Amino acid sequence: MFESLPIAPPDSILGLAEVFQKDPRTDKVNLTVGVYKDESGQTPILASVKLAEARLLQEEKSKGYLAIEGLTDFNRLVAELVFGDSIDHRRIASAQTPGGTGGLRIGAEMYGTHYRGATAWISQPTWPNHPSIFEAAGLQVQGYPYLNGAKTGLDLDAMLNALRTQTRPGDLVCLHACCHNPTGIDPTANDWKAISELLSSRKLIPLVDFAYQGFGDGLEEDTIGLKTLLELNPEAIVSLSFSKNFGLYSERVGAAIVVAKDENSSIAALSQLKQTIRCNYSNPPRHGGSVVSTILSDPSLKDTWVGEVRDMRSRISAMRSQFVAGMKGTGVDRDFSFLMQQKGMFSYTGLNPMQADWLKNQKGIYIVGTGRINVAGLTNRNMATVCNAIAECIESTI
Ligand code: PLP
Repeated sequence: MFESLPIAPPDSILGLAEVFQKDPRTDKVNLTVGVYKDESGQTPILASVKLAEARLLQEEKSKGYLAIEGLTDFNRLVAELVFGDSIDHRRIASAQTPGGTGGLRIGAEMYGTHYRGATAWISQPTWPNHPSIFEAAGLQVQGYPYLNGAKTGLDLDAMLNALRTQTRPGDLVCLHACCHNPTGIDPTANDWKAISELLSSRKLIPLVDFAYQGFGDGLEEDTIGLKTLLELNPEAIVSLSFSKNFGLYSERVGAAIVVAKDENSSIAALSQLKQTIRCNYSNPPRHGGSVVSTILSDPSLKDTWVGEVRDMRSRISAMRSQFVAGMKGTGVDRDFSFLMQQKGMFSYTGLNPMQADWLKNQKGIYIVGTGRINVAGLTNRNMATVCNAIAECIESTI
């Protein structure tokens, strides 16, 4: 049987990381993968995480299975972090999942099982894993326009127009709560209101992917889109990831959340989330969830963590401004100031696939073919090299 299996295509981004690993050049720079890096180019373990782990090592008494929906404290604390007191928490059904990928898959599959034929609408472009996850979850997948022609900002009219004219009631609309991946281009507060009104009038269900809370404007500030949606839309699916803001990438911790109209509906929704989880991975891994709930439940650890998220956000923002200034300093005939409006780790640079190839082959600088760079991969040390290489690339590939 397996002899006739075709080779599956490599993951577009992780495939590049493999090529990068094998590249012998010592001055190579990897701006492709979606992990935070500090000034020394490392993906650090947060101090708050280390402290929580030390405590867990002393206090944890069992490695027995967790409940299907994970740790009770974890689910309560993350709902407080994300929703605050903006809604009645009895409307929330939450399950701890292996990463945000798990959150998306469980939320989407639960929906797809009960509403066969529903479509998940995804922004064009979006995180490349979205269509695969939603298709695997049994949903149809269609795209809505997101960017303006110059790829420098949101085309809200085109987005709303497509959602107004092409969707059916009950379809899911996948929205990135903040720090849109791959573009870094987020709706403004007013844009969120217009999106919320449109979804409500068309009876569409928001499917909010919240993978970068705290990396945009702040932990609280980054919830504005989600909260605006919930003002008019009584139901939503929300996926959380704690890979980035807790640096817990390999511990696999996130959540699948259903916001229902009332308590009874949320009890039903939780039972269905559990059903979906049981036949996928049965119950989630313990460690990441324990770390997150230990931090969120302890005021001093939480303060440390909030400070660390602020530091990561500030570094990303400083690298973004330095990159824009650095590109200006090269004298290249292209204005990169639009990057200053973008949020989070990623930016669309406007470079094309041919230029991405040129940078890789000529300079050992790896960016995604779409022109996406991970701003957190920039450091004071590699900044000038990267800016000069991009300037040379633009001039040689015109
Ligand atoms: N959603 C978006 C937009 C992402 O960028 C990512 C990770 O890169 C995820 C979800 C998944 O995160 P996790 O690694 O927690 O599964």
